[in-house]
Order: sequence, then structure tokens, then C-alpha cells
Amino acid sequence: MDTPISVSSLGTTATGGSGKVLLAGLSKRYADGTTAVDSIDLQIEGGSYCCLLGPSGCGKTTMLRMIAGHETPSDGAILIDGKNVIGKSPRERGTAMMFQNYALFPHLSVRDNVAFAARVRGVAKKERLYEADRVIEQVQLTALADRLPAQLSGGQQQRVALARAIIMRPAVLLLDEPLSALDEFLRLQMRGELRGMQRELGITFVHVTHTQLEAIAVADQVVVMDKGRIAQSASPRDIYAEPRTAYVAAFIGGQNVLHGQVTARSEGAVTLSGAQGASYVLPAGGDAPAPGATVSFAVRRDRMRVTGEHEAAVLAPNTLRGRVRELEYQGTYMKVSLVTDDPAAPGCVVYVEETTFFRDPVAVGQRVCCSWAAHEAHGLAEMA
Ligand code: ATP
Repeated sequence: MDTPISVSSLGTTATGGSGKVLLAGLSKRYADGTTAVDSIDLQIEGGSYCCLLGPSGCGKTTMLRMIAGHETPSDGAILIDGKNVIGKSPRERGTAMMFQNYALFPHLSVRDNVAFAARVRGVAKKERLYEADRVIEQVQLTALADRLPAQLSGGQQQRVALARAIIMRPAVLLLDEPLSALDEFLRLQMRGELRGMQRELGITFVHVTHTQLEAIAVADQVVVMDKGRIAQSASPRDIYAEPRTAYVAAFIGGQNVLHGQVTARSEGAVTLSGAQGASYVLPAGGDAPAPGATVSFAVRRDRMRVTGEHEAAVLAPNTLRGRVRELEYQGTYMKVSLVTDDPAAPGCVVYVEETTFFRDPVAVGQRVCCSWAAHEAHGLAEMA
């Protein structure tokens, strides 16, 4: 296996700034009337790793291209280290972009591909070849420096693309789906290397992906997008454990989203009624919705329990009845998919830790109850 990329000796960034990015009221409307990005406000700390995450067409590439200077915004401001960079070249902004398809010159060797990027910085030939060799060494490609891109594997091509972006000495490195062309094994290896490189360089990385686990594995800040807007921007832990809306919960995964009608409010809690006699209690602050309101809430899949069906006529709070539809063994846990008796939320998935599961297993087709502690539920907001 290749040794990890080390880039500690690559020197300072072009701008000398920290790479803090601020987007204010940023919009992009195309001539055909498509609004790709809709009045976004976002702050990305200098020297941090930010992932823009969302389904196809949500506007993440357009946002990245506007930060990079490859797309002109229709409205709003982009500040990098406090300076409005709209109308400025990528070089003046201190940005460099690594493209989805790597965009390598097929007729140039690895060394010349990397050195070409330094030419854009106006570096003299001898010096740029020296710099290229240094960067190529840092990404562990010295032995392949004379090869053409077609003579490299996908992972090696990706390293060339990275070397080409890094030689620009950006304050902000923009990565458009950098791992999408790699197979699963290389993807996992390279994502760790990208994170390690970002730490060593200390520059800002803005990485576009539609893969949830990739985003939460590498990022300091995850920005979940929906139809050109930001659904939630937070740390990976907060996004995963406390999604703000049903959209974020469904998109990030690992959650069950349930619904009920408020029947009572008390100090620190709200009680809901669900279908088929189910009742739910969830923690709530002073702004808990009034009785009669419909509330959505999420419970993590790994925080639910599955047991044989209780015969009791009245279900305990925070319990659903259903039937096991499917079992999938995942090594450390069993994925138990249920069809619940609640027609509003028929699909429910529980991750049962493997020792717990095999101590008291359930079978496909069996009637079961699924339950959770009140503090494991959290209310979801409607997206504005
Ligand atoms: P993907 O993951 O598929 O790359 P994305 O989230 O990066 O998607 P964008 O490429 O930013 O999405 O596109 C956002 C929206 O803008 C889409 O509806 C897309 O069709 C539209 N769009 C992008 N470029 C143009 C263009 N040049 N003219 C018109 N509409 C465009």
C-alpha cells in the first residue's frame, strides 16, 4: 500500500491569508430561469475542512464554481479573508480547483502536468520543474513522474490532480467530487489522505460530495443542501445526531422519522399520539408546539430496541408494533427492517448490536415491538 501523502514542506499559501470564506446572499440564476443557488449565507472558517453535501442538482457544484471564480453569481458577495473576490481571477482569490475528472493534459507527463500549473503562477521554467518535482515527491509519485496520465491508475491520476492544485499554493482548495472515480477501497484510503493533507497544509478545503459517509468522515463542517438552499450547516456529529429537518434526517440516514399530534405539554416534554394507539414522549423546550399540532421527530436507528411483540392492550409510550421484513447482518450489528403498523411511517430500521441480537434474536415475518427512551427522540423543524 502507498504511504500517506505528506505535504508539510510545501510552504505558505499564495495569499498568506487563512482562507476564511464568507458567502452573503449568494445566488445563481441561469438564463433559462433555473435558480441553482438561492440566496445562501455561509461562513467557512480558515484552515477548516468543509463538505458541501446534497443530492444531484441541489446546487453544490455551482456554489463551488462561484467560489472558484469559474461562475459569476447573479447576486450576493463572496469574501475570502475579508476581501470581496467577485470579478477576480482564481489566482487573485487564492483558490485552486481539483476537478471531478482530474482534467489532466493527456499528452503531458506527470511532471509537465504539474509544472504547467506553476506556469500560470508565472514561475520560470527551471524553478517550476524543481517545484513540480518537490510536489510530486510529496504525493508519492516520483517513480512515475515521466508517465502519461493514461499510464496511471485512477488513484495515481488523482494524486497528480492534487499536486497540480497544491502547486498553486492556494488559501482555499476546492474539490469537486474528488473521490467519485475511485473504487471503494481506494476511496476510503484517499479520503483519509485528503484529510491528512488538509491538516498538514493548514489551508481551507471545500469538498463537494453526494456521499453522506464521506462528508461526515472528513469534514469539520458539513453543509447539507436542498434545492439551492442550505438545509443545515453544522459539525458532522451535530448533523448526524441532531438533524434539523426531516429532509436532513432522511438524507444523512441512520435515523427513523416519525410523526404524531401533540396531546399534552408538560415541563420539558411534549406528548404526541400516533397511529394505532401509539403515543410518544419527546423532550421539548419552552417553544413546544400547542396541542393539536402535528410534529415530526427523529430517533437514531442504533438507539431503538426490538423485542418480541407485547400482548398488552395499551402500548407503552415510545413503542411501535410491526413485523420484521428483512434482516441484514452487518458484522458489528444486525440491520432489522420493520413494517410498522403506523401507515404514516411504515418503514422503520433498527441497528441491533450483534451480541444483543444473537442473545435474543427475532426472525423475518415475526411480530415485534420496537421502542426507545424518550431522550433519544428529538423534534424536527419544517424547512422554511
Ligand atoms: P451533481 O451532484 O449532479 O453534480 P449539483 O448539486 O452539483 O449536482 P449543480 O451542477 O450545481 O448541482 O446544478 C444545480 C442546478 O442548476 C441543476 O438544476 C442544474 O440542472 C442547473 N444548472 C447547472 N448548470 C446550468 C447551466 N449552465 N444552465 C442552466 N441550468 C444549469
